[in-house]
Amino acid sequence: MVSKRLRDVPASGTVALSNLVSLLNSQGADIVSFSMGEPDFTTPKNVIDACVRSLDSGFTHYTPSTGIPELRKAVAAKAFSENNIHCTARNVLITPCKHAIFMTALAYLDPGDEVILSDPSWVSYEACIRLAGAKPVYVPTYYDEAFVLDPRRVREAITPKTKMIILNSPSNPTGGVLPEQTIREIAEIAKERNLTVMSDEIYESIIYEGKHLSIASLPGMFERTITISGLSKTYAMTGWRLGWAIAPEEDIKTIDKLQTHSISCCVSFTQPAAVEAINGPQGEKESMVSEFRKRRDLALDLIGEIDGLECNVPKGAFYLFPKYNRDVKSEVFCRKMLEDAHVAVTPGSAFGPGGEGFFRISYATGEERIKEGFERIKHFMGKI
Ligand code: GLU
Repeated sequence: MVSKRLRDVPASGTVALSNLVSLLNSQGADIVSFSMGEPDFTTPKNVIDACVRSLDSGFTHYTPSTGIPELRKAVAAKAFSENNIHCTARNVLITPCKHAIFMTALAYLDPGDEVILSDPSWVSYEACIRLAGAKPVYVPTYYDEAFVLDPRRVREAITPKTKMIILNSPSNPTGGVLPEQTIREIAEIAKERNLTVMSDEIYESIIYEGKHLSIASLPGMFERTITISGLSKTYAMTGWRLGWAIAPEEDIKTIDKLQTHSISCCVSFTQPAAVEAINGPQGEKESMVSEFRKRRDLALDLIGEIDGLECNVPKGAFYLFPKYNRDVKSEVFCRKMLEDAHVAVTPGSAFGPGGEGFFRISYATGEERIKEGFERIKHFMGKI
């Protein structure tokens, strides 16, 4: 008998779709996949070489559960210099980003607690909240407001049961970036109402306009914030499953308890390579970001040519979240697009009720495939 906890939580829509695309492609279909949020680039060579060196040297055993000291130190130094988060290695736990989110939910939420998050939001926040027995409270964001979370609406959503706010800027699925003033106002609310903030900053380096601001860098916020980030998106290292949580030392110890009872530690031989990713040359990271910007602009131009679609200009990440003007649920719309046009996109409804009427395009794929995919979408829109 499946636990009550898990029974009503669906499998991840993003991962399920990507599994389906892999299956169809392995059967000989030619699917243009705009589904998974995953860069198509190869991990930089200096990082791969560092991993091979660590394997060759026999670095293949358990590491401390919190991660190797050199990597914790490198992450802390990066958080200090780039994000102005005043922390040391003791404030860092090395763990896959998604596992950090899962553990944070389990560590801080009790049944009945409420968690505020943007609608739409990335699929797994709601699942983690529910698995911890707590309740997601979606605060609507709007296309006409570039999906920016409005602090006034956050305030209205708070009840005596509210325990946590989740932030994700740049955002998956909208690519929206929270303005500095919004982050400051949310910080004030969190302090006033004594709330924990879980800030998922995995797209922190993929910003085209403006600058990333970590809420933990604001006065009085470090002590109540779990900042989560990692290497997957910035260094094209999705398969390495390597990220981190940054928090006060006591919180790191708390979350590490769950790490010791679940994965014990991250893979050992990838960790020296992560130090190389952070401390080594950053040229490839920068050229990947400028390539993403070109692809975003290309994809937006192509959307502009399709009747029935409109999209605002996302300032970060590698997602577009277009609106379609057909009277059909996004799940049906996307399934038909996959069946008829062989293009995989994620239904907006996977990201919360506010995603209905939209779909997500991950444009972290080559220019030729983007052109081919949009040609097919144009044809599809002409028929549906
Ligand atoms: N975060 C990526 C996405 O949204 C990878 C899949 C997942 O973790 O949900 O597509």
